[in-house]
Amino acid sequence: MSRIRILPVGGAGEIGASCFHVDFDGTGIVLDAGMHPRKKGIESLPNFDLMQDLPLDAVLISHAHEDHIGSLPYLIQRFPYLRIVTTPQTRAIAELTLHNSVSILQEELAREEGYLSSTASLIDAGKERHPLKPYTHDEIDLLIQSIEYRAYEEQFTVSGYENRNNADVNASFWDAGHVLGSAGILLEHGRHTLFYTGDVRMRNQTLAHGAQIPRRHIDTLMLECTQGATEPSSFLEWEDEAQRFAQRANEIIEQGGSILIPVFALGKMQEMLATIWQLMEQGTLAKTDIYTGGIARKICTVYDRNRYVAPRMDKEFEFADVEQLDFFEIEQTQEFFRRPSIILATSGMMVEGTMSFRFAQQWLSEKRSAIFTVGYMDPDTPGYRIANAQQGNEISLTEFSERQKVRCAIEHFHFTAHSMRDGLISIVRRTTPDRVVLIHGDPEAIDWMGFALLKNFPETKVHAAEIGKAIEL
Ligand SMILES: [Zn+2]
Ligand SMILES: [Zn+2]
Repeated sequence: MSRIRILPVGGAGEIGASCFHVDFDGTGIVLDAGMHPRKKGIESLPNFDLMQDLPLDAVLISHAHEDHIGSLPYLIQRFPYLRIVTTPQTRAIAELTLHNSVSILQEELAREEGYLSSTASLIDAGKERHPLKPYTHDEIDLLIQSIEYRAYEEQFTVSGYENRNNADVNASFWDAGHVLGSAGILLEHGRHTLFYTGDVRMRNQTLAHGAQIPRRHIDTLMLECTQGATEPSSFLEWEDEAQRFAQRANEIIEQGGSILIPVFALGKMQEMLATIWQLMEQGTLAKTDIYTGGIARKICTVYDRNRYVAPRMDKEFEFADVEQLDFFEIEQTQEFFRRPSIILATSGMMVEGTMSFRFAQQWLSEKRSAIFTVGYMDPDTPGYRIANAQQGNEISLTEFSERQKVRCAIEHFHFTAHSMRDGLISIVRRTTPDRVVLIHGDPEAIDWMGFALLKNFPETKVHAAEIGKAIEL
């Protein structure tokens, strides 16, 4: 009898530091090593202590968003013998982004004295805590060089160090249609198959092609639920939303205003830039100056390099052909308002200290201009405060900032890189799993999905993942 056990280590009942341990008869595979996007320092990491005494052979990363890869350096610091495998695109993006996330975390850890200079253990309220050591950029480079990469649907084997009863696991990545390089992960051990969706979108975006899901029976499906609580009827489809976006943008441009769009550096930035460019080329959207900058721009070059390699909607499209100005070359923000322009800036939720936050402070006082939000805003972020304000309101962007009058227009658009409810259910329908483990969603989203699955698939066992609570298969 084979023994398979899933242990959620992070990001189970929320969108946080995604990390799951799966034990296949003594071969240990870690799925994702994320960092919580809003928590700070040690609180932002998965609870690696939970894996201390478990078999650990490989970590497979689904994609390069921070909530899936951000804690990888610390996972490897703790368990240096782990083999790391991703898609080639995820590795290329990690090369650009990991340095950055590690530097931010190091500053936070130093502030809360989360580091220990020696290897001595920290006794914290009677509990032994493992010390974290600072990383150098050279060490991050070495870490990235040690990442193995596998193309979509190319099978590879993970052999256990404590290899008992022929406990090899066959693994493969499947295009998840979420961002460049994103993958669902298929694991096969003996007669058992497990599929981890990662973040997944079944329908096309402007660039990303809808996901490829294995066409076969899956015994255990680990299903993300980001959009589980979203009423689909309140949103338009991608193309229709793009038309609505163009219409509203034209109105702002005609009145001489400029549009600020907060985006994530990976995925949302490239999809929005490609959408805007396509609308301009079609003549639907007025040709206007476009400003971009920073790491998001570098990630565009990874998209360009991979345009014939990874699946996508339009292989001929290149970001190199999109005329862009660099906002880092602008000395005074007033320049953005001399003539109409569109600015795509990170972070997506306008977190304090980021470029989109700094720009937003200026934008709020510009009557003819607008802030267009294009994705989800966490309630604890300045982005949420802005998204929920209207022209004429007074808001403060953070708890400590001064109140400011909202003079610009605020508009919301729904461009999601995740599957809506029907897409998530279609994955279950296709793979006919015996068991579904719900992950990566807030409690409301997980609840809705749980009820929907129990109703539509009464034969299927449904689990809501909880950190530290093992699921025996
Ligand atoms: Zn993601
Ligand atoms: Zn995610």
